[in-house]
This record gives sequence, structure tokens and C-alpha cells, in this order.
Amino acid sequence: MSTGFDAIVIGAGPGGEAAASRLLAGGLRVALIERELIGGECAYWACIPSKTLLRPVEARAEASNVAGLSTPDLDWAGLRDYRDWMIRHLDDTAQVADYQKQGATRPPIAGLDQVPVWTNREATTLREIPPRAVMIGGSAVGVELGQFLARARRRPPTQRRHRHPRRPPDPGAPARTATTPWLSSTTVPPSVPT
Ligand SMILES: Cc1cc2nc3c(=O)[nH]c(=O)nc-3n(C[C@H](O)[C@H](O)[C@H](O)COP(=O)(O)OP(=O)(O)OC[C@H]3O[C@@H](n4cnc5c(N)ncnc54)[C@H](O)[C@@H]3O)c2cc1C
Repeated sequence: MSTGFDAIVIGAGPGGEAAASRLLAGGLRVALIERELIGGECAYWACIPSKTLLRPVEARAEASNVAGLSTPDLDWAGLRDYRDWMIRHLDDTAQVADYQKQGATRPPIAGLDQVPVWTNREATTLREIPPRAVMIGGSAVGVELGQFLARARRRPPTQRRHRHPRRPPDPGAPARTATTPWLSSTTVPPSVPT
């Protein structure tokens, strides 16, 4: 399998699903990374179950305010079963299969399923510098913390003196050209050697 992707979407909640579907529809090679269930919070623990639970008690309250109607009983067991059906019994097998049919793939990084995944919280409160790290995503968070992890593990240079004096940064230069050389000199390879 080729290791090249046009896009890697991290998180398959409503936001990630919308992004992945549009990218796939546009013919791009997409990796969709989800650590729990495809559909995210909304499909399993938020919008869908809460609306499913709310509607029957809302309808019962409305009925109790209408002349000529008795208040219906709440069939809790029936509602609970319906809620479980609505949240797919917390099973996203069908969703995974559907994405695979559309061509989404997992990044073929050996062992990805077995390693701990850090977010910004773990990275900013770390107590030990990990010997290796793979940064997925190049947002401000990934760039900042990737720089930190790469530089924290790198040995300090033994030769500090530059043969040529460094040019002072040009404050008028566009941000991209000002930052690119600095970033490329500290790019984190997929596996950072200790
Ligand atoms: C009780 C309740 C009711 C709600 N009702 C509504 C409603 O009626 N209508 C509405 O529009 N909104 C509602 N919301 C809000 C809605 O749930 C959120 O706005 C929506 O889920 C946000 O979608 P998202 O894709 O941004 O994030 P999420 O749904 O949180 O999805 C993010 C996904 O990313 C995954 N993920 C995160 N980090 C990583 C990682 N490092 N690696 C891999 N995967 C990762 C997570 O597992 C998750 O599946 C409700 C929320 C609650 C709590």
C-alpha cells in the first residue's frame, strides 16, 4: 500500500466526517483516524441519544396539558431499547465498512493502534521527554509541540560559533519565508531517533 495521502482527518465526529466525505467525493486519498467510534460524540453520547430521550417525555408533558387526553405512560424499557438502536448499540462496524468502500484507509504506520496517543493536554503537561514521537497534523499545536519534542531530544550543538555571521531576520519579510527555514531545520521525522 502506498504511504501517500492527500489528507489525514483526525477525529470522525460530525466535523471530521463532513471533511472526510467531501475530500473522498473530490477523489482525494484520505486517511480517517478515529480513536473511538465513527460519528463522534454527537452520534453516540450527545445529540442523538439526548433528543431520543427527550422527545417522549416532551410529548407526554404536552399530552398532559391537553384537555380530553390522558397522560401516556412512559415505556422506559421500550425507550431505552429505541435509544440503543439510535446509537447503533455503540457499534460503528457499518460506518467503518462504508468508509472503506469509499476508499478511506488507515495510515500504514506499524503499531499505531498500540501506542499511547497524546493530545495537547498530555504534551503540555508531560513529565518525561518521550524518546520518540510521531506528530500527526501540522496545526499550530502540532508545530509548536513537535518543535519542542524534536529539540528537547536533540543534543546541544558542540560548535556554537557560526562561520558566517547570521543575517538578522527581516521584519518586513512575509511570515512564511521568515519561518520556513527555521521549521525545515527542525522537521520531526516520523520516527525521531533517540
Ligand atoms: C447532550 C448533548 C446534546 C447535543 N445536542 C446537539 C444537537 O442537537 N445539535 C447539535 O448540532 N449539536 C449538539 N451537541 C453538540 C455536538 O455533540 C457537538 O457540537 C459535535 O459532536 C461536535 O462535533 P466534532 O466533530 O467537532 O467533535 P466530536 O463529536 O467530539 O468528535 C471528535 C472525534 O474526534 C475523535 N478524536 C479526538 N481526538 C482524537 C485523536 N487524537 N485521535 C483520533 N481521534 C480523536 C473523538 O474520539 C471523536 O470521535 C450536543 C452535545 C451534547 C453533549
